[in-house]
Amino acid sequence: MKRKQFLKICTIAGVGILTAPHISFKPNNQEFDKNFLIGKSNYEFKGPSWKMEQETYAQFLSMKKAAKSAGFNIEVVSAYRSFERQKQIFEGKYKRFTKAGLAPLKAIEKIIEYSTIPGTSRHHWGTDIDIIDANGSPRPSSVLQAKHFHGSGPFCKLKEWLNKNAANFGFYEVYTDNANRKGFKYEPWHFSYAPVSKQLLTDYRKLDVKQILLEEKLLGAEYFTDAFILKYRTENILDINPELIV
Ligand SMILES: [Zn+2]
Repeated sequence: MKRKQFLKICTIAGVGILTAPHISFKPNNQEFDKNFLIGKSNYEFKGPSWKMEQETYAQFLSMKKAAKSAGFNIEVVSAYRSFERQKQIFEGKYKRFTKAGLAPLKAIEKIIEYSTIPGTSRHHWGTDIDIIDANGSPRPSSVLQAKHFHGSGPFCKLKEWLNKNAANFGFYEVYTDNANRKGFKYEPWHFSYAPVSKQLLTDYRKLDVKQILLEEKLLGAEYFTDAFILKYRTENILDINPELIV
């Protein structure tokens, strides 16, 4: 399926306009479809086992090639994730934490240190990736931990390379190590392809997140009060690397 299938087609002078993806990703007067923004579209993401939005994928391959000549083997741990997959992750943790004795709201607060509420993940867009160095040795059993990207960690050298070079390919760290940043914790492995994700975030901000979450009847949804949603939106969705905000 082509990109046009997740673009909401608006009209210019009464005529539906579609512009080929190679000309412009998001032509004027078009917005991303809500279903795409919340991980429910049937857009054809690109990639072997993991999937990415097509422009992101092309740039990722260029970055991977450049990293390879510098001695790194970029491995994708996670890329596109559907609403349903995120729901399994969220509800699985919710059940586990509440069973272990946490009050529901505490369980949700613990989940959202690193995981998103389904419908709000940047991984729904196919522009965001979690990456490590497959050559990093010794390979830890749990790869996505900040300590592995620093000091003598196995992914530290790749991280240094990414800090210098990822932006040349349009990729930026999302959840930076900035002590003043709120929301999700520092994720040195999570990068976003800015030329596309900035546009997606702009459109995402127009959605009524609370309404979407209530419609989905998620476990714990009764705790998504206006105050909770406002805080989540301000801190978890929007308190990110400023390079990724229009
Ligand atoms: Zn991630």
